[in-house]
Amino acid sequence: MHKHPHPDFGVYLHIPFCEKKCIYCDFYSLEKMEHMDIFISQIIKEIKYTSQQSQQYFRPATSIFFGGGTPSLLSATQMQKIINEIHTSIAIHPNAEWTMECNPGTITLDSLKAYKDLGINRLSFGIQSFHQKELDFLHRIHSPMESIEAVSLARQAGFDNINIDLIFALPDQQMNSWKKTLEMAIELQTEHISAYSLIFEEKTPLYTMLQKGLVKPSEEEKDADMYAYTIETLTSAGYSQYEVSNFAKDGYSCVHNRTYWQAKEYIAFGPSAHGFLHNKRYWNYRNLIRYLEAVEKTGKGEANVEELNAYNRLFETVFLSFRAEGLNINEINTEFNIDILSILEKEFALWKQEKLIELHHSIISLTAKGYALCDELSVRIIASLEAFLGQEWDNQGYQEDESEEEDTIVYTLPILDV
Ligand code: SF4
Repeated sequence: MHKHPHPDFGVYLHIPFCEKKCIYCDFYSLEKMEHMDIFISQIIKEIKYTSQQSQQYFRPATSIFFGGGTPSLLSATQMQKIINEIHTSIAIHPNAEWTMECNPGTITLDSLKAYKDLGINRLSFGIQSFHQKELDFLHRIHSPMESIEAVSLARQAGFDNINIDLIFALPDQQMNSWKKTLEMAIELQTEHISAYSLIFEEKTPLYTMLQKGLVKPSEEEKDADMYAYTIETLTSAGYSQYEVSNFAKDGYSCVHNRTYWQAKEYIAFGPSAHGFLHNKRYWNYRNLIRYLEAVEKTGKGEANVEELNAYNRLFETVFLSFRAEGLNINEINTEFNIDILSILEKEFALWKQEKLIELHHSIISLTAKGYALCDELSVRIIASLEAFLGQEWDNQGYQEDESEEEDTIVYTLPILDV
């Protein structure tokens, strides 16, 4: 496990372009690339401005994460411009993790080598499935062969820290099909595997298909069987589960993800990006043009900001860390002056007896059996905390701007020199 002598501090950059939208995806991205160059210059401005304004709250960054969208649509030269600005504006920890999300359909050996030369030291490939039919259904742009090739090219380029993302519980997916995908994934010997159950997110084409009765979600029982199979198979193959959907070989859990799950601070750039700094959550416009204009006018792309009170911080810390590496009883006690062990004494005793949780060095973490019930257990914990504190968790404020539909709002770029 990567250890740092100080708390983790993350930097997230959202690259809002994709060659083609996948039907299940609710991340903000556009198929039109026409504003890519101006986006690069504005995100650079945003990094510069934010750093000047908030430098006093920064710590050396332990992770830098290029997500999206499809960061691998950026050329090495475009990546270099952004990375140069990061180095100029933000102090970086010498062992920082530099991740870049890549679509297997958008890379070459040369591009991967160039990213590596720029300092990227971790790649995350959206592979999802090793069946062409399933990839076609999801509207992915790559084939299973291209995915295998992508990992092999990444190895040739010298990457020794690679994640692959997979999705299970597709409509009509049979267990055997998922088993085959997992088998292939394990054969690739990547350091990290994320395996998500398909979610029907509102406002996606998949959701519309569901409403029209064109697809049916996988039955709950099948979904649970696939999940249990995933945990069993990946843990026997040498991966440790360190969050509901995330598995890593020893020493390769994702520093950036852990920063989120431990409710540590991170700054964020690019449209729709969310950050957490100095006890404030903020989120950027989920619309490229609005974002570009906001940066031009104000130096940042912020649509809204919310200050967290101590209760909300506590709820978030408990909720996020329970799903990941566990509740750190001592840390919670020190930070919030609250003895969670005694508040939840009854629940914890029962769950321990049922082998859903375990207690190690003052950390309460989920067992494999417990992960399968994580949602229900989290709800119970939050409810008990709310009852004890006489406070409800107000997690409604943390909503994105709803008026951000790129296709329905026509913006021009009057103030920008396009
Ligand atoms: S490539 Fe990734 S970000 Fe782009 S549409 Fe597909 S899932 Fe979403």
